[in-house]
Amino acid sequence: MKRILYIPFDHLHRNFGALKEADPKNDVIAFVESARMTTGRNWHKERLFFLISSARHFAQSLEEEGFTVEYIKAATTIGGLDAIKKKHKGLPITSAEPSSFRQYEALEKYGVSFVPNDFFLTPRPLFHQWASEQKSYLMENFYRKQRTRLNILMEGKDPVGGSWNFDKENRLPPPKKYEGPAYLEHKRDAIDLEVAEEVGHTPTTTWATTRKGALAQMRNFFDNHFAEFGPLEDAMTTDNWALHHSLLSPYLNNNLLHPAEVIHAAVKAFNTGTVPIESAEGFIRQLIGWREYVNGMYWFLGPDYRENNQLQASIKLLPLFTDPSKTQMNCMKQTVTDINDRAWVHHIPRLMLLSNLALITGTNPQQFLDWMREVFIDASEWVMVPNVIGMGVHADGGQMMTKPYAAGGAYISRMSNFCKPCVYDPKLRVGETACPFTTLYWDFLDRHKEAFAKNHRMSQQVFGLKRLSDLPELKERAQEVLEGLEQGKI
Ligand SMILES: Cc1cc2nc3c(=O)[nH]c(=O)nc-3n(C[C@H](O)[C@H](O)[C@H](O)COP(=O)(O)OP(=O)(O)OC[C@H]3O[C@@H](n4cnc5c(N)ncnc54)[C@H](O)[C@@H]3O)c2cc1C
Repeated sequence: MKRILYIPFDHLHRNFGALKEADPKNDVIAFVESARMTTGRNWHKERLFFLISSARHFAQSLEEEGFTVEYIKAATTIGGLDAIKKKHKGLPITSAEPSSFRQYEALEKYGVSFVPNDFFLTPRPLFHQWASEQKSYLMENFYRKQRTRLNILMEGKDPVGGSWNFDKENRLPPPKKYEGPAYLEHKRDAIDLEVAEEVGHTPTTTWATTRKGALAQMRNFFDNHFAEFGPLEDAMTTDNWALHHSLLSPYLNNNLLHPAEVIHAAVKAFNTGTVPIESAEGFIRQLIGWREYVNGMYWFLGPDYRENNQLQASIKLLPLFTDPSKTQMNCMKQTVTDINDRAWVHHIPRLMLLSNLALITGTNPQQFLDWMREVFIDASEWVMVPNVIGMGVHADGGQMMTKPYAAGGAYISRMSNFCKPCVYDPKLRVGETACPFTTLYWDFLDRHKEAFAKNHRMSQQVFGLKRLSDLPELKERAQEVLEGLEQGKI
């Protein structure tokens, strides 16, 4: 044997990273299930189950291919690698570049040599070059470059359909009583059951833990959901927890699926002529635009970016985030219950409910970020940090997004069916039945009006404050709402 190839739990693809040129005759494959990863934090058990079971299935597939596989449990990754290295006479260790600053530093210090991380469509140096040339890091500008560079949905130099973006068509509210196609369920096997027992969890049948299952999920999306993805992309409804979202993020992030495979399938489906451009473009933008941009920004902005708190937000994480019985707000109760059930909600509840509430209450960004990291099936440091610190709670002072995504109850009422049965009224901003989102939205704008007045994209919202004749009463109500939320009574 010549080398040890270390495979982190998010590099589970045979054709990319360190495994791309692996050979059973030369390479020992190393997996480490570190206690830091499993018991270090209050991880959602569905998430732990998914990550560990996927890695064990993948390790088994390599063994079946004839590789010598070392899969060990250890206190830390380095401790585990040390044990494997001793067993294999000090062979050198190679890995693909890791996906977080912390792991990069630890492995580099230990002497692991890296091959480039090719689990994305954009090499890190290429993104760095793009970002270094920008005055502001607008995702839309990056996305257009990507479309051209990768030649996706292009007719020569022009975008297919005559426009780069069909967002206007993609903002429909949920239809009444919307059922949609049945959810795909994934059967559990012996490895799943073993992992479930070890982590003390009864898993759902929502998430696949094998490449075969991930490919089935991808097929299910393109066959049954892709055409309708766009228009209902932002809608939220208690009738259907996934609507037409792909549910592919966990597999893209642990690399049971490579983004190039998903894009290839998307373009192929679009070329059959049965998928409207607004759905195809909307989905492809999420992948070649948002996902690549977020990863690029994580590496470009550096390890200290995570600690930003430019709005000086200091409220402790509200109890409703960990216990949905601690709120009467229907939208929050339903969303946190959904997260407890299957470790996933789509981008609008993440942005316009969870993050919006953290933003307008002034919740400490790092406490909120840590909670988000722990509870989502697809959470990784590279993707959560920019999404939460930059997009979700505007803690970076606008480095990533030109304005904060703050909204009152009117938005939630328009885009969901949460408000009708709720005890709070989205139209009211004062009084005991006022929607906390509406009250806190105005209070947030008022608290930061000097800073936001300088931002031309916010000036109209801030100007709206002048029309509020009940601002003193609203500020009082905002204090009551905050206290009620902190006590778990609102
Ligand atoms: C505050 C906040 C936190 C988020 N945290 C995560 C996270 O920890 N992990 C994660 O994978 N996504 C995260 N997202 C992005 C997005 O919410 C999820 O990727 C999506 O909900 C996953 O479900 P899906 O696969 O059905 O996505 P779809 O709606 O079907 O979208 C297709 C794919 O696009 C990609 N994508 C879309 N938006 C983003 C984005 N903003 N950043 C990165 N990838 C994107 C995902 O890979 C996703 O699978 C976050 C978004 C917000 C606003």
